[in-house]
Amino acid sequence: MSLFLDHVRQTLTTIDTAGLTKRERIIDSAQGAHVVLRDGRRVLNLCANNYLGLANHPKVIRAAHDALDRWGYGLASVRFICGTQTLHQTLEARLSQFLGTEDTVLYPSAFDANGGLFETLLTAEDAVISDELNHASIIDGIRLCKARRFRYRHNDMADLEVQLRAARSAGARFLLIATDGVFSMDGTIADLPSIVRLAEQYDALTMVDDCHATGFLGPRGRGSHDYHGLIGRIDLLTGTLGKALGGASGGYTSGRREVMELLRQRSRPYLFSNSIAPPVVAGALAALDLLESSSELRERLTTLTAHWRSGLARLGLTLKPGTHPITPVMLGEARVAQSLATRLLERGIYVVAFAYPVVPEGKARIRTQISAAHSPADLDFALEQWAKALTDAP
Ligand SMILES: *Cc1c(COP(=O)(O)O)cnc(C)c1O
Repeated sequence: MSLFLDHVRQTLTTIDTAGLTKRERIIDSAQGAHVVLRDGRRVLNLCANNYLGLANHPKVIRAAHDALDRWGYGLASVRFICGTQTLHQTLEARLSQFLGTEDTVLYPSAFDANGGLFETLLTAEDAVISDELNHASIIDGIRLCKARRFRYRHNDMADLEVQLRAARSAGARFLLIATDGVFSMDGTIADLPSIVRLAEQYDALTMVDDCHATGFLGPRGRGSHDYHGLIGRIDLLTGTLGKALGGASGGYTSGRREVMELLRQRSRPYLFSNSIAPPVVAGALAALDLLESSSELRERLTTLTAHWRSGLARLGLTLKPGTHPITPVMLGEARVAQSLATRLLERGIYVVAFAYPVVPEGKARIRTQISAAHSPADLDFALEQWAKALTDAP
């Protein structure tokens, strides 16, 4: 044990020396546009995935309370033994309808949805063609399966075609293209029209992880397939209930009925991990009610994002271009980004700096994320503080 502990300490020191130690920021309040830190300070929060501001919405909380009373605290079971309530089935049907698919399977998390997908559907005879910047859960899911792996350069359709050809020449039986719908570090929306066209040309299946899109992207907020006018054209969608759809936890995979049936038979995180707690399921249903009954939250998010992006640009900052509420401010060196994030926090603005290895070397950034819970005044305050922080002594 002591040799092992020495080894662990050594690893921690290596992480720390490289400047890669991650420290949790402890929050002493509910999630929202503003949060209270442990030292009692109330700060503006620009780094949650709370896109529609539903994480602390009164209707979502009410629904969760009611479900706690009606359906209990938890199921103490996996889905197929005694962990499926009518409530779970209602959410699965509701998500299928919302996403424009035939059927949906709930998972404890989107991480698990991705973890239980590839291994269940593909074998060593098949191939996965994956964007190099895909989320860790897609990468791990692919690692668990025996299919051959091909990686294409980020959102690079010429390279995707090269890899599809390579997979075909290698004699793969089924080909599956896997991509994030929106890439979290850049806010880039995947080029799904080209992906779908190439998939048709090379007879490949398509899988899109839409965690940063479900609920708000596209004319009806269905996600990146809605944004691109491709509802019904993506074979497999995975997503989370932990971001725009209420922000608690839980995930899903959605697609063709037979494929979902096979996941229910074989997918390990579905078979061997607990059901989503009833209050969370009810909260997600309330979130869907809210965003399907009115486009107000989505429109507010769009307007606020445009306001924020143009305000930052007016300060002379370099942004990753786009329209997604993920708005990365590009700062280059890691310590420049770190030091600016620290100064902003001192001024009551909570943002996070990301540096290598999370993003490429020399491309350090502060990733800001807009929420429908923000007000225009919140963003104006943040812009004012940002302008001042730029001239604060580092
Ligand atoms: C957040 C995220 C996940 C993980 O979602 P959980 O439900 O929290 O496990 C998976 N994929 C992508 C692209 C994400 O952004």
